[in-house]
Amino acid sequence: MIKKILSAGNHTLSRCSKCKETSNHTIVAMVEDRVARVECNVCGSVHNHRNTTAPKPRSTSPRTPAQPRKTRAQAQWGNLMAEADQTRAVPYHIKTPVKTGYIIDHPSFGLGQILSTTRPNKMEIIFEQGVKLLLCNVAD
Ligand SMILES: [Zn+2]
Repeated sequence: MIKKILSAGNHTLSRCSKCKETSNHTIVAMVEDRVARVECNVCGSVHNHRNTTAPKPRSTSPRTPAQPRKTRAQAQWGNLMAEADQTRAVPYHIKTPVKTGYIIDHPSFGLGQILSTTRPNKMEIIFEQGVKLLLCNVAD
């Protein structure tokens, strides 16, 4: 990376204390290779340069926060959804005839797969949040 060498008369971004904004400034004075004083191109005030482009060192740990551990149900759901043909998901409705293995698109719980059904009207269905027992119209 080639370092851009600045000198008096060049333009740089600085935070203006009057405008309270980061804007284009004309460099007025340099101290060695650093911009010392700048003139705001917006209001014309001359002030010490405040570098806005240098990224602040992160005070937080660079480690990404640990993902919450998946429950067994979530893992199972993930595996099922990975294999499932989600385009064949059936919108959940209590009257829609369903069978074990169907993919259900539930308005609150999202996608789920029917694990088992109990005549005449109950199904055990796994959603991301876990297994739920819902009313349905058992077709098999
Ligand atoms: Zn200004």
